[in-house]
Amino acid sequence: MPITTLALHPPASVGVEWEVDKPLAPLTSIKIGGPADYFVTVSHPHQLLRLARWARTVELPYLILGGGSNVLISDAGVRGLVIHNRCRTVRIDPAPCSLFPLDERPFLFAESGALLAGAARTSINEGLAGLEWAVSVPGTVGGAVINNAGAHGGEVKESLWDVMLLDEADEVRIVQASELDHRYRHSNLKRGEIIQGGFGPVVLSANFRLGFGDGEALRAKAQGFLDHRRRTQPVEPSLGSTFTNPAGDYAGRLIDAAGLRGMQIGGIEVSRTHANFLINPGGVGSGRAADVLALMEMIQERVLRQFGIRLDAEIQRVGAWQ
Ligand SMILES: Cc1cc2nc3c(=O)[nH]c(=O)nc-3n(C[C@H](O)[C@H](O)[C@H](O)COP(=O)(O)OP(=O)(O)OC[C@H]3O[C@@H](n4cnc5c(N)ncnc54)[C@H](O)[C@@H]3O)c2cc1C
Repeated sequence: MPITTLALHPPASVGVEWEVDKPLAPLTSIKIGGPADYFVTVSHPHQLLRLARWARTVELPYLILGGGSNVLISDAGVRGLVIHNRCRTVRIDPAPCSLFPLDERPFLFAESGALLAGAARTSINEGLAGLEWAVSVPGTVGGAVINNAGAHGGEVKESLWDVMLLDEADEVRIVQASELDHRYRHSNLKRGEIIQGGFGPVVLSANFRLGFGDGEALRAKAQGFLDHRRRTQPVEPSLGSTFTNPAGDYAGRLIDAAGLRGMQIGGIEVSRTHANFLINPGGVGSGRAADVLALMEMIQERVLRQFGIRLDAEIQRVGAWQ
C-alpha cells in the first residue's frame, strides 16, 4: 500500500508545516527527483528530533535531506517522509577550561543543517584555521559528516571533534569523531549506495576543533580554493563527483581517457569541464534520474572494459527504483 494512502500528521507540538506530494527536484543540486509522499522543513533541532521520533513511533520511514548535493533522487520520488534540514545555527565556542586547561583552541559548533561552506566562512572571519578547504563544498554539515566530505587536501575528519545524534535506539548521544570510522567519503553513518527512507541515525549538530590562524592568510587560501574550483568545475546543475577516485588514479581521468567526455543520454551529459561530473544543463524538468543512472552504468561498463577498473558511485541513489 502506498504510504500516501495513510492519514498521517505529526502532532501540533512538533510545530511543523506538513506537505504532501512535494516535488524534490528544486531541492537538489542536480535539479532532478520525483516527489516525496510527505515533506517537512525543520529549522530547529528540537523539531528535527521530535519529528524523527514521531515518525519512528508511527513507523513512517524518513529520509533526511540536507543540501541535496550528493543524492540522486529517483524519478518516482521517495516513499515516506522527507525531512528537509534547515537547522542552521553556527557559533564559535571557547574550549571548556575543565576539559582543556592548557589549550585554548576554540570549537565551531554547527547545527546539522548549517551550510558547510558558511561554517567555514564563519571560522575564517574569526581568524580560525582548519576549515578553509570547505569554503567551496556545497551541502550541509550533516551531509558532510555522513560523507566525510573533503577537498583541496582537507577533510571533515581532520577537525571534527564530536557530533550529537539521535541513534537507532532513540537515544540522543554525543559521539566522538573517532567512533565514526571516517575514511575517504565514508563514515559508519552512511547507509550505502541505494537508500530508501528508514529509521536511521540523525545527526543533530557537530563540533569542530579549530586552530588559530592569520585572518588575511586564511582568506587568501580560501579564495585560492574558490578560484581553482571556478576554473576546473562546471557551473551547470550536477552532484559534483559521481564516482570515487580509485586507488592511485582519478575517476575523471579514466572517464576522459575512455572517450566519454561530452557523452549524452537524454538531458544528461558528461561534463566537458570535468568528466567525473554529470550535468543537467536544462535544470528542473529537463534531465531524468533514469538518464543519470544509464549514463553512470555506461561509464562503469566502458571504464571496466577499457582499463579493468570498476568505478564505485560516490553519490547515493535515493527513493524508489525499478
Ligand atoms: C558542484 C559540487 C561540488 C562538490 N564538491 C565536493 C567536494 O569537493 N568534496 C566532497 O566531499 N563533496 C563534494 N560534493 C558532494 C557534496 O557536496 C557532499 O557530499 C556534501 O557533504 C553532501 O551534503 P548534503 O547536505 O548536500 O547531503 P545530502 O545530499 O542532502 O545527503 C547526503 C546523505 O547524507 C544524509 N544526511 C544528510 N544530512 C543528514 C543528517 N543531519 N542526519 C543524517 N543523515 C543525513 C542523507 O540522508 C543522504 O544519505 C560536491 C557536490 C556538488 C554539487
